[in-house]
Amino acid sequence: MNCILLGPPGAGKGTQAKNIVKSFNMLHFSTGDMLRKAKKFDEIINKLLLTGQLVPDKVVIDIIKRRLERDDIKKGFLLDGFPRNLRQAEQLDLMLKSKNVRINKVFLIDIGFEEVINRIAGRRVCECGASYNIIAVPPKKNGICDCCGANLVQRNDDREESVVRDRFAIYKRQTEPLIEYYNKTGLLVEIDGLKDEKAVFKQISMYIL
Ligand SMILES: [Zn+2]
Repeated sequence: MNCILLGPPGAGKGTQAKNIVKSFNMLHFSTGDMLRKAKKFDEIINKLLLTGQLVPDKVVIDIIKRRLERDDIKKGFLLDGFPRNLRQAEQLDLMLKSKNVRINKVFLIDIGFEEVINRIAGRRVCECGASYNIIAVPPKKNGICDCCGANLVQRNDDREESVVRDRFAIYKRQTEPLIEYYNKTGLLVEIDGLKDEKAVFKQISMYIL
């Protein structure tokens, strides 16, 4: 089964992606991770990422395409972080068609702006990669990482509500046509993201074969 995971920043996409790929033995296609890997041997990607420029869609699609050629994806994959807009979705579909691969479900973890603000304001991260939320997923010891014992920090870009507001507005603008696109094809499954992590995962699991 091949799936796409959509949702605003703060919806818990990362956590759910991990749950899904682990439980269903799927391959996690995180475009962020793939680009970070690719930059090690690709000078052009490295330069784009270093200067904070957007990596062209074609480059991302080529990376996914090459990844599809390996034979460890028989149980399916989960795309996380791509596509972000309608154009990318259309290009992705063209590429998948050429490979005779299809998307079976598109999960949208739906939460509203108010909830995004609450969650992002409470988000704490550790340099080891662990992330917490002082309301929803607090660490055992206040301000300390459960995994490595380091001090947790609040990300710079999470501090300002205006930044969050902008990110949410961009997400909305880009994602709405995308949601409509996948809704038309009957692939879209809306998941109530206001529930806790386990309940959200349970909702998603019901649709994965
Ligand atoms: Zn840590």
